[in-house]
Amino acid sequence: MSKKLLRRCAAQLKRVQDALGDDAVVSEVDLFVARCGCVGVVFMVRGVELRDISDEVLDGLEEAGKALGVRPDVVYARVVPGTQVVIDLAVRTLCDTCRREFSGEEPRPDLKVLRGATER
Ligand SMILES: [Zn+2]
Repeated sequence: MSKKLLRRCAAQLKRVQDALGDDAVVSEVDLFVARCGCVGVVFMVRGVELRDISDEVLDGLEEAGKALGVRPDVVYARVVPGTQVVIDLAVRTLCDTCRREFSGEEPRPDLKVLRGATER
């Protein structure tokens, strides 16, 4: 991986960490390409619950996605099912299949759409 890309990822990890505050830990940021065609960026977090996610955090996630070349079609959290505990926060450019899935009621019990994913 290029040093330039690593530096950009590190800068975005810091951006999201700053938005979440000192009680949270952002342990890792991953860029991904899904088999279906979606691309995205995922921030692994500890010490975050859904109620901790402010507009500032959502804005930070969108900006982080853009800075890494990921159009923020949807911002979502993956939670421990049945709880408010967030495992990771993600920004994703949706493929056509996932656009339909994410714009539905609840895509999956472990995914909480926080922003975006309207039909276009
Ligand atoms: Zn997809």
